Amino acid sequence: MTYALAIHGGAGTILKSKITPELERAYHAGLARALEAGEAILKDGGPALDAVTAAVCALENEPLFNAGRGAVFNADGKQEMDAAVMDGATRRAGAVAGIFGPRNPVRAARAIMERTDHVMLIGENALRIASDAGLPFEDESYFFTQARWDALQETLEMREEGAENDDPARRHGTVGAVACDASGHVAAATSTGGMTAKAPGRVGDTPLIGSGTFADDATCAVSATGHGEVFIRWNAAAEISARMRHLDEPIETAAEHVVMQDLAQNDGSGGLIAVDAAGRIAMPFNCEGMYRGMVRSGEPRKTLIYRA
Ligand code: ASP
Repeated sequence: MTYALAIHGGAGTILKSKITPELERAYHAGLARALEAGEAILKDGGPALDAVTAAVCALENEPLFNAGRGAVFNADGKQEMDAAVMDGATRRAGAVAGIFGPRNPVRAARAIMERTDHVMLIGENALRIASDAGLPFEDESYFFTQARWDALQETLEMREEGAENDDPARRHGTVGAVACDASGHVAAATSTGGMTAKAPGRVGDTPLIGSGTFADDATCAVSATGHGEVFIRWNAAAEISARMRHLDEPIETAAEHVVMQDLAQNDGSGGLIAVDAAGRIAMPFNCEGMYRGMVRSGEPRKTLIYRA
């Protein structure tokens, strides 16, 4: 093994009984494009950090996934995006929360990491750093998708009637990538519009280092997707790393424990992707499905939605 890459396009997928063959193909194609973008870097001996950034940018550019273009709307009908990156070699990290404007929020997170002494910025100054870094900005029409707008109206109507159900396809989404490069360094990146009809100003687990995003060469890199509040309270991503470090658990066992016990038993529907410095990948989820994909050097790319 010289490299490994895993990606996700969100947990809590459209029910298998409801997805059309066209839509299913479109999801697989979007995931494949993101794997390709990340793998191109790893294949050339490039760093895991660049690979996860490229893979997440590709997913942010796909309107089907809830990040960048196609992000969900909050209760006020606005899009507020969260993103983070973390480098396992140095534990450097960057994050943004509640931003709107940069085409690729993950690159804004990376600009915070590379151009400031801080880990997370919000508001005007986060946008200024992104613009000083030369990142492209887009307007509302670029980010808008009818499907997300309709999902907001539906959710608000249900809320009004006191009948908001827990349909994960409407509530969930997020994109992420984890990679291990040929030098044995790992990295993680995650980006999201959050949850449909969230309160304005709400920040989920995605940009919180240790909750939705984490990377440390000594253990693993993790990118999560699901009911953010629970991932925050259970410190999901860092908990996997802690179990590996303190209990000597392999990555699969540690990731499975966090998703199936800690999260699932506490209303934390969702899943995550994780990779260790030996290129072992875990992709557990505790709901109907998780848009996901993986590739290792010398092996074919795989994209999946439901349980295999
Ligand atoms: N975890 C994200 C959030 O809570 C949403 C998701 O992954 O579905 O913002």
